Amino acid sequence: MPRLRTADPLWLAHRANRESPHYPGIASDLRADVAIVGGGITGATVAWMFARAGARVVVLDAARVGRGSTAASTALLMQEPDTDFAELSRRYGPKNARRVWRLSSAAARDFVGTLESLDIRCHLQHRDSVYYALGEPAGRRLHDELRRRRRAGIPGRWLDAAALRRATGIDGAGAIRTGGNAQADPYLACTGLLRAATHEGARIFERSSVDRIDTDAGGGVTLAVNGFAIRCATVVIATGYATPSFEPLAGRFRMLHTYVVTTPRVPARIRRELGLGDVMLWDAARPYHYARWTNDNRLLLGGGDRPRVPERQRAKALRDGAAGVWRYFERRYPALKHIDIDFAWEGLFAATPDGLPYVGPHPDYPKHLFALGYGGNGMTFGFLAARLLLEWYRGKRTDDHRLFGFDRTVVLNR
Ligand SMILES: Cc1cc2nc3c(=O)[nH]c(=O)nc-3n(C[C@H](O)[C@H](O)[C@H](O)COP(=O)(O)OP(=O)(O)OC[C@H]3O[C@@H](n4cnc5c(N)ncnc54)[C@H](O)[C@@H]3O)c2cc1C
Repeated sequence: MPRLRTADPLWLAHRANRESPHYPGIASDLRADVAIVGGGITGATVAWMFARAGARVVVLDAARVGRGSTAASTALLMQEPDTDFAELSRRYGPKNARRVWRLSSAAARDFVGTLESLDIRCHLQHRDSVYYALGEPAGRRLHDELRRRRRAGIPGRWLDAAALRRATGIDGAGAIRTGGNAQADPYLACTGLLRAATHEGARIFERSSVDRIDTDAGGGVTLAVNGFAIRCATVVIATGYATPSFEPLAGRFRMLHTYVVTTPRVPARIRRELGLGDVMLWDAARPYHYARWTNDNRLLLGGGDRPRVPERQRAKALRDGAAGVWRYFERRYPALKHIDIDFAWEGLFAATPDGLPYVGPHPDYPKHLFALGYGGNGMTFGFLAARLLLEWYRGKRTDDHRLFGFDRTVVLNR
């Protein structure tokens, strides 16, 4: 299996995060209603929702919970999917595009609401996002994107060049400002949700790799884990991407590296000179770049995605990728020359051709439910996936399941 990230992210260096929860390894056979493979943000959310709904839940992570892609995440909790509304409308029609956007927006809101109501301390901060274009014709395209969103009832406000500069310090053509987004520490959010899941009765196991899954004649599945057998009615695959056990599905995903750097705490004087307000910033170019402040006034910069490199080139690719992200922002923010890089890391993520995750069953894998392939939107989409899977598990089938199903390109274009 590929390593999900290289170099330790900022979150794992925080004191509270170093003192992280430890869960035991599997040491006996078990029975459950639902086994969840993967203890990242998706597995954690699925565990909490299913356990709260009364299912007997077991979570299995091959390594340590929350330390895969989730620990690498920059945790911009965005309502806006990475795929523009115009692009999704072209693919699946405006009605389906509108529904995806509505679901994504509701998921971001509900995710934030859940973190708050469970009192999960993860440095959650409400933030607007600013989605900007540097020049023309990208600015005109972005303005057109906003027009289409508005026609579909999706909120957003246009910032002209002067307003963009005031809000962010960036010289560009214009931007869409969207309210109601948030940011957090992804590791604390994940471990907090897992703790909440245990309060609902979920059992969590680390260093417990699921090596095989067999469908039983009786209608359930048996998971082989550390030489023990876990029998359950349903297994949820929340590993982020199609692991080698699901090799036939691998062609549906493109694996990309993405890069992050953070500064040390930035003094107020330099913050003012930089001019980036309390917003989350991302650009309309592809691959995109993004920036946000952390709760302790570090500047967190990311982006510059690139296709997968061989493992032995990964360290050099990290140096190049981090330097590329830094250069991009140094051109926008000359005041960065006064600041150093404190942390640099990278992570792998799985992207799909239309930018939407695959959520739900697959005909070749009975009793399996999948939640994979989020692109850069795993925080929001992971929450949405958990909700859709719980509905499915309880026998509810809606058009929303068709939007994220493995056969959506056929179903939605009928
Ligand atoms: C650098 C970076 C920045 C990002 N920034 C953002 C952002 O700002 N906003 C956003 O919404 N998303 C962002 N993302 C995406 C988001 O972080 C991911 O989509 C999300 O964390 C995926 O969570 P997950 O739980 O599905 O997977 P993971 O967190 O990767 O968890 C999967 C778990 O499965 C376990 N596993 C794998 N195989 C097995 C097995 N056989 N048996 C048992 N366990 C197994 C692994 O050990 C791992 O812990 C970013 C991603 C990266 C890499």
